[in-house]
Amino acid sequence: MTESIKPAEVVIIGGGVIGLAVAHALAQRGLRDVLIVERANLGAEASSAAAGMLAPQAEADCDDDFFRLCCQSRDSYPAFAQTLKEETGIDIELETSGTLYLAFTEADERELQKRYEWQTRAGLEVEKLSPEAARLHEPCISADVRSALRFPLDTQVENRRLISALATANDALDVRVLTGVSVDSIDVKRNRVTGVLTSGGFVACERVVIAGGAWTSQVINDALPNPWIEPVRGQMVSFEATPQIARQVIYSPRGYVVPRRDGRLLAGSTTELAGFDKRVTAAGVQSIVTSALEISPAIAALPLTASWAGLRPRAADGLPVLGPCAEIAGVFYAAGHYRNGILLTPITGELLAGAILDEEISPPLQIFSPDRFQLMTVR
Ligand SMILES: Cc1cc2nc3c(=O)[nH]c(=O)nc-3n(C[C@H](O)[C@H](O)[C@H](O)COP(=O)(O)OP(=O)(O)OC[C@H]3O[C@@H](n4cnc5c(N)ncnc54)[C@H](O)[C@@H]3O)c2cc1C
Repeated sequence: MTESIKPAEVVIIGGGVIGLAVAHALAQRGLRDVLIVERANLGAEASSAAAGMLAPQAEADCDDDFFRLCCQSRDSYPAFAQTLKEETGIDIELETSGTLYLAFTEADERELQKRYEWQTRAGLEVEKLSPEAARLHEPCISADVRSALRFPLDTQVENRRLISALATANDALDVRVLTGVSVDSIDVKRNRVTGVLTSGGFVACERVVIAGGAWTSQVINDALPNPWIEPVRGQMVSFEATPQIARQVIYSPRGYVVPRRDGRLLAGSTTELAGFDKRVTAAGVQSIVTSALEISPAIAALPLTASWAGLRPRAADGLPVLGPCAEIAGVFYAAGHYRNGILLTPITGELLAGAILDEEISPPLQIFSPDRFQLMTVR
């Protein structure tokens, strides 16, 4: 006979930033008996591997629903950080220093010019800088810079502190957590969720949130829409920079560097299909270091102190998968955040809590609904 774990109002599968944020938003609105089931440790996967950039403008080529969702989440970060600080005393190191984007070639300049034009037409804050003006912002940048853009509102957060803050806040709000326990399947009877079967036993519940990151498709059965989420490996390296050599995030079309308050300078990343292999490779490190040195030759003298890799969760169409599924009552998705899960953390929590508690299907949940995958039968 299968052992039983105490039932829960809502079970959240996965304790990355997304599962943690959904739990937090639910508990903050007064829901008791929220249970996170996490196979490893809280935040152990993509959420701690990330660079923590909140940079929708630096990365966007057009104004679309996804871009607007990202900007809305970025703009909600100051209030979110403040709430976490008040609840836990933990500062998630939300910076307000902006993001610099450098061009080194004619092709880079064309790409930046296009971004500058559509964003100024859309009334967004973006500055075009000469190499000299860019150097006034960041003296460490290469002499080969031809021009730059600056996005004053794009910024960064310390994602590992974000994980700690959410975990601590959830603890204070009595969210239950099972770590080292995996969900093997979601139990459905007569088109309703009845619980989840875990490695530690059965948990009865009427609502389940699927927030399993790159592993999401492994817990989805045939009765549910499958967004075919696949892992996309990203490698990172970290240098020791004391004193810190940069104030803000600096991008080129080939990489980025992210200065942290503790003296680390992170550099990333790669975009690779390598299955669930999280190992760092020589070629990965080489390409990251080459891009970092292009941004700032001063990095050549810094000790390389760490390297790691994580798996970004990418859905078949590259967009997030958010909200209830029409076919099975009680199943909610919070998955497929791909390159932007840290950025989309606050808004994902809010949207999912609204859908679960108030049955509110706001416009983003219609656009990013899991039901768009209902008819997808091929990988
Ligand atoms: C190198 C790199 C750099 C990045 N940089 C940025 C950035 O600058 N800005 C940004 O916004 N985003 C960035 N990202 C993306 C971001 O990290 C992800 O989008 C985000 O962390 C996804 O969060 P998640 O909670 O969905 O997934 P995860 O953090 O992977 O968490 C999912 C959790 O679910 C658990 N799990 C899975 N299956 C089960 C199961 N069956 N039972 C129990 N538990 C299960 C896993 O153990 C895991 O802990 C980056 C990612 C990488 C790899």
